[in-house]
Amino acid sequence: MLRFKPALVALLLDARGEALCDDCLARALRAAPADVTRTTGELSASPDFLKDVWRCSGCRRIRPVTRTVLLPHSVPLAR
Ligand SMILES: [Zn+2]
Repeated sequence: MLRFKPALVALLLDARGEALCDDCLARALRAAPADVTRTTGELSASPDFLKDVWRCSGCRRIRPVTRTVLLPHSVPLAR
């Protein structure tokens, strides 16, 4: 059911600093929007992710979006 969760996390980390709405994430992952909404809801319980109403970096609409929050304890993200 949540097999795309790692892909979702990877996508958010790769797009860090950008806020993406569930629809854009679903499109990018070819996943069901409802599944994405539930998963981003789960991620928002983590201090590493923030879900809030903001302008989506993808579709530019104001809607609930998810983005990463870079905290000192976060996994190494250096490229
Ligand atoms: Zn969007």
